Amino acid sequence: MTRKTIGQQMGRSSWAEPWKIKMVEPLHMISRNERAVALEKAGFNTFLLRSEDVYIDLLTDSGTNAMSDRQWAGLMMGDEAYAGSRNFYHLEETIQEYYGYRYIVPTHQGRGAENILSHIAIKPGQYVCGNMYFTTTRLHQEINGGIFVDVIIDEAHDSQSLHPFKGNVDLSKVQKLIDEHGAQSIAYICLAATVNMAGGQPVSMQNARELHALCKRYGIKIFMDATRAVENAYFIQEREEGYAGKTLAQILKEFCSYTDGATMSAKKDSLANIGGWLAINEQGLYEEACNLVVVYEGLQTYGGMAGRDMEVLAIGIRESVQDSYMHSRIGQVRYLGELLTDWGIPITLPIGGHAVFLDATRFYPHISQEEFPAQTLAADLYLESGVRSMERGIVSAGRNKETGENYHPRLELTRLTIPRRVYTQAHMDIVAESVKKLFDTRNERKGLKMIYEPKYLRFFQARFERL
Ligand SMILES: *Cc1c(COP(=O)(O)O)cnc(C)c1O
Repeated sequence: MTRKTIGQQMGRSSWAEPWKIKMVEPLHMISRNERAVALEKAGFNTFLLRSEDVYIDLLTDSGTNAMSDRQWAGLMMGDEAYAGSRNFYHLEETIQEYYGYRYIVPTHQGRGAENILSHIAIKPGQYVCGNMYFTTTRLHQEINGGIFVDVIIDEAHDSQSLHPFKGNVDLSKVQKLIDEHGAQSIAYICLAATVNMAGGQPVSMQNARELHALCKRYGIKIFMDATRAVENAYFIQEREEGYAGKTLAQILKEFCSYTDGATMSAKKDSLANIGGWLAINEQGLYEEACNLVVVYEGLQTYGGMAGRDMEVLAIGIRESVQDSYMHSRIGQVRYLGELLTDWGIPITLPIGGHAVFLDATRFYPHISQEEFPAQTLAADLYLESGVRSMERGIVSAGRNKETGENYHPRLELTRLTIPRRVYTQAHMDIVAESVKKLFDTRNERKGLKMIYEPKYLRFFQARFERL
């Protein structure tokens, strides 16, 4: 028998981070009165708070990763040549090795890649199918004349459905669009793995394989949003038959093989603080992308990143596919989620990859969607505990480009996003206790009114007032 941890002897199954801490950054908490002033100043939008006024920062997992000692060492190996930096070739090789794509175009972050892909792959009036939308991705598709069509399975819109792969594409929705409008009317399929807006929910290997077969038949390309594809691979290893014995690296490579390219926000999975890339297998499209990268990002061997950033990213990719690392990463998210469900606090289930999503509709049943329950919850949680979260509901969904009407997403969520390798299990305890305290006084809370609305991606800069 193998030796068991204390937790396992007690009937629990413990995990631990496969690293120890070498450098620390002090945290401090300002008073409730000071937080009330800060929140008012920020227009009740957690994106407008100063980081120094935040105690535990779960706004996002984007660019908030802690680097390893190897990455810090890599930072000193930056080759800051304008053209042909050694670090670019290291990055290119690493992406080719782990993701398996042929041609790589570096960009400053994910939306830089989305911009270029949308320019070269969408003709105005064409449909772009997605397994649920992502804010920046859909905006770039629409700016380039694309019409977004949601083809995710219906279970994804239900926060309580326990489907193990809630990110899956409903192939019949794609088939219906092909039957009604023809394959040429579809620019490409944007396949996100995992699906951020659905609660960090994964796509199964079988679904990717079947989608690939369908698209191949009609000559439709699939571009993956690979931002959290390694986290997706973890769920396949855990839940899908035939994958328990495969490594994350093997699973990732197979998954990518069902797609024709990818956009990447390396600020998430890849354990870096900045960076991104676009990958394309077809030479002609790659040449068009290369032509545009110099317009928007920089030369095709840096794309808006410093040489040292590319080095950090190459090392981060290698670390991100280590099974023991990902086990602790997902384990920490699940730890927080399970504390909350044990206390009867409504969250999106199953618990996803990068965050725990509070179901604001059920947390604040007395606040209607027009009064922004998820935005209110994020504001209240900050006020009462100094924990920063963010809205993923009607504010994030924005307005229909044609009609100007608000989208009314079925999911009205407040996201507690866990930065990678940054916080400890004790911090997760504090977060859970803070949410619980707020939950116990939820009936006293009032909603919000929007008083300033920017034109694009309004969740970043909108301002609110308490009703
Ligand atoms: C963050 C993110 C993006 C955009 O990437 P940026 O690096 O923030 O520009 C795209 N898709 C998903 C799923 C994301 O989470």
